[in-house]
Amino acid sequence: MIVETSAIILRSMKYGDTSKIVTCYSQQCGQIKILAKGARSSKSKFGSSLEPLTESHLVFYKKEGRDLHLLSKSEIINSINPFISDSDILIEALSVIEIFFRIHHHEEKNESAYELLSETLKALPKNKLNITQLIIHFYLNLCSLFGVSLALEKCQKCNTKYQEFENVLTSYFIPVTGTLICEECYSDHHSISSTKIEKLLLEQLILISNLTPKLIVTNIFSKNNYKELKNILFDYIVLHVEGVKKLQSQQLF
Ligand SMILES: [Zn+2]
Repeated sequence: MIVETSAIILRSMKYGDTSKIVTCYSQQCGQIKILAKGARSSKSKFGSSLEPLTESHLVFYKKEGRDLHLLSKSEIINSINPFISDSDILIEALSVIEIFFRIHHHEEKNESAYELLSETLKALPKNKLNITQLIIHFYLNLCSLFGVSLALEKCQKCNTKYQEFENVLTSYFIPVTGTLICEECYSDHHSISSTKIEKLLLEQLILISNLTPKLIVTNIFSKNNYKELKNILFDYIVLHVEGVKKLQSQQLF
């Protein structure tokens, strides 16, 4: 079967003398592996369209029951590489594609996942000040897409909405269940493994979850410890999403 699709290149490795095996996340079939014959020769018709962090238009022959398909055509739609002059942004962009690479996907169409990946990569180079918020948004949406959404709007024990946590500036995030409990309930359940989240930070977290990558780039956020929040969410993903573990991309520089 001939398949035409947009795809984001996640990883590429040498194969034989002149070829490459490329793993990409495609709009039509989810994560796929394709063999690009002759891709490493200087006259390759694929040009630089198979470099990681590139969104390309691919035509390939899909062999049912196989996990390696044969690439016929590839053209760049857009590449975020040339826009990245900053190592912090590059590390985050590589981490985003590494997470997608590591998740145990099957060859399954998931347009929302494709859109999340594509929109996040496009937004990353646009405002360095907001990259942590953008990654938090990516993590939250990734959790929803892969069936392990966080429930942060109310206390899991007494059902009080977070806006109504009275005179309480701290709530507790429970990584095992992805839920939140208020300070009052926490005093009865303090044996549960948890992470403190200040109310102001929680409000920002909920705001971020409701914005799009494009809006996050232009938003002005209040001062908070977003890096800590990002780490809490990453640990949550490692705990619940099969295949994701400590990222090599975070140790590059
Ligand atoms: Zn409560």
